[in-house]
Amino acid sequence: MVNVAYRKNVDKRLTKQEKTYETTQLMKTKRSEEYETLEEVFDRSTLMTIYEFMNKGAIGDIHGVVRAGKEARIYWAKSPEGKELAIKIYLTISAEFKKGKMMYIEGDPRFRNVKHDTRSIAYAWAQKEYKNLELATKAKVRVPKPISVKNNVLIMEFIGKNGTPAPTLKELPPKHPQQIYEILLEYITRLYQKAQLVHGDVSEYNIMILRNKPILFDIAQAVKLEHPMASQFLQRDINNLNYYFKRQGANITPAQKAIEMITRD
Ligand code: ADP
Ligand code: MN
Repeated sequence: MVNVAYRKNVDKRLTKQEKTYETTQLMKTKRSEEYETLEEVFDRSTLMTIYEFMNKGAIGDIHGVVRAGKEARIYWAKSPEGKELAIKIYLTISAEFKKGKMMYIEGDPRFRNVKHDTRSIAYAWAQKEYKNLELATKAKVRVPKPISVKNNVLIMEFIGKNGTPAPTLKELPPKHPQQIYEILLEYITRLYQKAQLVHGDVSEYNIMILRNKPILFDIAQAVKLEHPMASQFLQRDINNLNYYFKRQGANITPAQKAIEMITRD
């Protein structure tokens, strides 16, 4: 006799097979150069995640690579309504990936039980970046607005125009360093006070300037204040910030004083 549980199981399996079939068909029909590149770079499960986003209407077209790093690739895409999107895809197969990540994951109460294989870490890293972007946005810290995340694929607001990202501080030193410095100190304070986060990787590489205002990005490593190294990370962030802005001619707040201001109740 075929029982209900068995039937449900078969139904579930069939739905899954149908989904795979539909996705494969979509992959075959949408075969432009970009899609071919996608297929060369990513494993099957990453492709499935991307195509699921397309099926759901979260992503319309993917136009091209913005940056291909060792750990992640950033794509310029558009929503079906034509809004510019940045898609960040962490590489699940890069051996590089695990290096130096566990320190930021294990000490963070949100991610204590993550497994140690590269894929699990890449997934956790994407979820962590998404959650940090959400917390930062709520704390009124300007970051790319998070839109969606699944597995190792993160969709966010595109910072820039027509596929060209806004310049980072590394690429284009600021016209008004004092003003930018002060906004950044305020952002670090809001992260600490309102989001209970320490950025942990403040540098001219991870700050873009758009219309004379700084935007923090690449914040997967940011940790909750409970992290055992949170205060060391904060110290390092302020040192990096001060080092950069001093060279830009800004009047900087000494690190100790800045930290007192950021952390005071
Ligand atoms: P990685 O982890 O490889 O360092 P980043 O998040 O720092 O990746 O992004 C690398 C580059 O991609 C950035 O320097 C920037 O030029 C571009 N980029 C990243 N996020 C966005 C975004 N939301 N909008 C526009 N460009 C972006
Ligand atoms: Mn980066």
